[in-house]
Amino acid sequence: MPLQRPDQPRLTQQEQLMSRRMLRHSRPILIAACIAFTVGSIRSAFAQSLDASRKQFRTGQYTQCLESTRKAIESRAYGEEWQILMAELLIALGRYDQAAKEIDLALLNYPVSIRLLKLGHTANQYCGRADRASEMLARIYRLGSAIEIEFWAPPDLVALGEAVLLLGCEPRLVLEQFFNRALKNDPNCRESYLAAAALATDKQDYDLAANQYRKALQRFGDDPDMHYGLAKAFYNSDRGAMIKSLDAALYLNPNHVPALLLLAEHQIDCEDYAAASKSLDRASAVNPRHPETWAYRCVLAHLATPDPVGGSKAVEQTRANALKDWSTNPQVDYLIGRKLSQDYRAASGAAYQRQALKFDPDYLPAKIQLAQDLLRLGHEDEGWKLADEVHNRDAYNVQAYNLVNLRDHLSKFKTLQGGKFLLRMDEREAALCGDMVVDLLQQARSQLCEKYGLELGHSVIVELFPEQQDFAVRTFGLPGGDGFLGVCFGNVITANSPKAERPFNWQATLWHEFCHVVTLNLTRNKMPRWLSEGISVYEESQRNPTWGQQMNPQYRKMILGAELTPISNLSAAFLNPPSPMHLQFAYYESALVVEFLVERFGYKTLQAILADLAKGEQINAAISRCAAPLAEIEKKFKVFARKRAEDLAPDVDWEQAEKGQLDTTDRQALAEWLAKHPNNFWALTLYAKNLLADRKWTDAKEPLKKLIALYPEYSGDDNGYLLLAEAHRNLGETEQERQVLSKLAIISANTTYAYGRLMEIAMQEKNWQDVIENGQRYMAVYPLLPSLHWQLGRANEEVGRDEQAIESYRRLLLLDPADPADVNYRLGRLLEHTDPAVAKRHVLLALAEAPRFRQAHRLLLKLISGAGFPQSGVPPESRKPTSTRDIIGGQIEPPTIQEDVP
Ligand SMILES: [Zn+2]
Repeated sequence: MPLQRPDQPRLTQQEQLMSRRMLRHSRPILIAACIAFTVGSIRSAFAQSLDASRKQFRTGQYTQCLESTRKAIESRAYGEEWQILMAELLIALGRYDQAAKEIDLALLNYPVSIRLLKLGHTANQYCGRADRASEMLARIYRLGSAIEIEFWAPPDLVALGEAVLLLGCEPRLVLEQFFNRALKNDPNCRESYLAAAALATDKQDYDLAANQYRKALQRFGDDPDMHYGLAKAFYNSDRGAMIKSLDAALYLNPNHVPALLLLAEHQIDCEDYAAASKSLDRASAVNPRHPETWAYRCVLAHLATPDPVGGSKAVEQTRANALKDWSTNPQVDYLIGRKLSQDYRAASGAAYQRQALKFDPDYLPAKIQLAQDLLRLGHEDEGWKLADEVHNRDAYNVQAYNLVNLRDHLSKFKTLQGGKFLLRMDEREAALCGDMVVDLLQQARSQLCEKYGLELGHSVIVELFPEQQDFAVRTFGLPGGDGFLGVCFGNVITANSPKAERPFNWQATLWHEFCHVVTLNLTRNKMPRWLSEGISVYEESQRNPTWGQQMNPQYRKMILGAELTPISNLSAAFLNPPSPMHLQFAYYESALVVEFLVERFGYKTLQAILADLAKGEQINAAISRCAAPLAEIEKKFKVFARKRAEDLAPDVDWEQAEKGQLDTTDRQALAEWLAKHPNNFWALTLYAKNLLADRKWTDAKEPLKKLIALYPEYSGDDNGYLLLAEAHRNLGETEQERQVLSKLAIISANTTYAYGRLMEIAMQEKNWQDVIENGQRYMAVYPLLPSLHWQLGRANEEVGRDEQAIESYRRLLLLDPADPADVNYRLGRLLEHTDPAVAKRHVLLALAEAPRFRQAHRLLLKLISGAGFPQSGVPPESRKPTSTRDIIGGQIEPPTIQEDVP
């Protein structure tokens, strides 16, 4: 789906009128020109000391800055710049009342200072004086309408743009006519960069925001606001880059409150609540009244209690503090709710967004967040309505735009209901494998709920997306998230569908996601990320040993290379992985911890830990109480993981030649290196691959057999089985090829090549059981292949599994088979006795495709005589169907599923 912002912004009538008035060519007003001139001359006189004070402000030396600025104002240093600096400083320190008073006084001398008025709006808002704040905006608006736009100094033009944005002007227009225009007039207009980038961030256009900040940093490399802004732009996409920018901002200004708050937010995401609390203390030391600091404290208070019991005293107190000065500040509840939703507590999150909207019904961030929450909670009508509303109000809002487009895609999905599951899939996929998906989910539900002692009364919504971008928008609100196959929100699961581009085992993925449903419900959404993932991966492998994650050479290297993350920091490993491999490793390690806990302390202990979490216990305390002190667990787990790593193919030599040490394309050099390292995994693989490339099939067999013997569990890239099978195939040694691939099929969850080739061989040899076995494996990865259903249909037919054969052929018909006449004929034959009417339809379809199909004619005659064909006097073979739809009539549906067309 398109991800760009819409090209055609829609303006309301009022906005258009306002914009026209604002931009019209009116008479230049003398006063503005005079003031601009005067300010210019004063600037040069006080430039040096003003620059020094500004530097103090920028580097967080607020006390010194306050002193120098106060002195300059008292000694009547002329120019609004000092007053602006003072106002910014007082606001940064949380002295909102004082800021408002000083701005009022300054406005007596500088009545047309847009920047002072804009700061006056901010200060009054934070004091809770909404009327006075609105008055400031109204004054700005009057000035903006009265004075021609090109007479404003660039920073004033930016402030004017920010003000009209607050008044509801079209963002794109503001960007072009105010922010970009200011930049054109003065390429060093710092305010313009900041405003344009902040606007992009607000609209979730993070790439654009990052570009703006990068550009700005070329001019203002020592400006902490730019580094902070860049960090914020990276928040959703790249935590590593975010931390780097945040470090730079805090290095330049250790007292930068917004940067400290962003750091606290990141620490909350990493579940490092103690560190987050310290960052908030640092922010409070600078500005004890910042509402967001208190909102984050409220989030921490919530996270200390399970959902929905979250109404503790600490929650109430911190929220009250956040709203102390500005009692209807919608940002407070918006922020608390947004963070709770991120922690799987969408219901509580939604309640906060509703509260934010009570304070300000036009606060769109809360509205779009509420839309997301409701969609995740399954309250879709209201969710989509809100997304529409935001999109209509703000065409520049990327999240709303993407959601509205997603809804169009989703409206074409099929909804299936079965066993307390509501499944949404692409229509064709639903017909093809919806029954298999529901069947698997039902198995997961009954097995996992019983195992963990959960009584799950309600339905679970599952949505499967063929397009990764749709999945990402539905799941994260934004495109991206390429590393994810599925996500669970408690009672809603979203995942890639079997049709997704990269092959993956959709059965394993859904088992994993449903396990999240169980553990999140069991703990009332209060569990660390690592434990949730660890149990889900572990349960995959309990269901099927080829699912989940296994030790492999990379993990071995990481564990022995001391890259194991301590359990207490394991959740953070998911958030900030240096590479996709590290993310995979975080899943593996988490599952290994769960395996360790179950092995050493038993399932009951794992259940007891979950029960403690549900009561509001912290994970470390729960582990200590139910198993052993965390320090001891950490120590023993390290030994356990190390042993597991060392036990991997113990006879293999894992060394890898350094870069420049060996030319891998030089066959002779590689052979010599291998002679010195006969059990080397890397060299054996490379050596064998070279032989295969040189078509030396027989020679390749020996190193490949050795490779398999050394490490028989390996089914990753370039595994010995696949390579050896290639050699056998080229030598015409089909039986050996079959044996090798069969071994691989047993240990791999997604080797479609092996499954497909084994089916092909089995078809030739009429080994029907083998066809069925490997066909089922294939279906778990990619059920959309016509030849798969054809082979399964044939095999099932041959072994007398008529029902399964009928299903296979029905699925095949959905995939435009090469020979539909034959498939329909076979269906006719299989249904001849159980459902002659449907059988007859299929035979007619076969004849429509192939009118001379003799066997079909014979079968039709038999069906007519047996089923009492209507006495129309017309011989059956001369009847011509008018259309396929006429013949087939009703929909063919899997027996256990009910359709529910939304
Ligand atoms: Zn997961």
